[in-house]
Amino acid sequence: MAVQIPAVDYLVLGDDPHLQAWRCDACSAAYFDRRNGCARCFGTAFTRKPVATEGVIKAFTRVERGAKEPFTSVVVDLGDGVNVKANLRGIDDPSEIKPDTKVRLVTFVAGVDDDGTEAVAFAFEVIA
Ligand SMILES: [Zn+2]
Repeated sequence: MAVQIPAVDYLVLGDDPHLQAWRCDACSAAYFDRRNGCARCFGTAFTRKPVATEGVIKAFTRVERGAKEPFTSVVVDLGDGVNVKANLRGIDDPSEIKPDTKVRLVTFVAGVDDDGTEAVAFAFEVIA
């Protein structure tokens, strides 16, 4: 099997792929990028914790880029104060997206280097 590396450092691969957020030790605010200080309470201690792999769409936009395939960018509310921006896969018609549409995390191979190492990215897919 090919060696796989996550495309972003907050994606954890393996049998149960999931995202991890830095949680402020003082107020539990969640950040996917590492912070030196919490924007909510100015705390400076953070702990990395897994977040839910399912959530609901809170906002979306359809992106058209000339000749390239259009895609849908979504903000997913994973609960517990965690929102993440990602692409939505498996929907061709944005009118199918309703408020609070339920989605789940999926991973896919975004690219392969000359040594065959696969870069794995994440997106969300509507739960049927
Ligand atoms: Zn805080």
